Amino acid sequence: MSNARNRGSTSTKDVKETKDSWICGLCRKEFKDDSSKILECERCELHFCAKCMKMSEDIYDLLSMRKDIHWFCGNCEQKVMHNIHIDKEVEQRCNEYFKNLEKSFSDIKADQLKMETEWKH
Ligand SMILES: [Zn+2]
Ligand SMILES: [Zn+2]
Repeated sequence: MSNARNRGSTSTKDVKETKDSWICGLCRKEFKDDSSKILECERCELHFCAKCMKMSEDIYDLLSMRKDIHWFCGNCEQKVMHNIHIDKEVEQRCNEYFKNLEKSFSDIKADQLKMETEWKH
């Protein structure tokens, strides 16, 4: 008489299986396989399949292998690129500002030096 074998051992496997799927934000296809070629946008965190992104396998492999390469969907890429552009503009302006500052500093120094030498003589 040992019928109480299965008590309390209900597996939670089903929950885990439904979690690992991605839905492409463009074609709405569901991808469950780990080997599915699907990319996550780092900005909006939506998923897109390589097919919709017209991405070749080589590029997909490169992107999925290297964590230092950032990928953005077409929608976000424009915004990101715009931001980068602004960043660069600001950087350039800062550089110019500091260059001018440096220049005026050295001008002042030169003037001081001139004055000092003029005063001495
Ligand atoms: Zn797709
Ligand atoms: Zn995005």
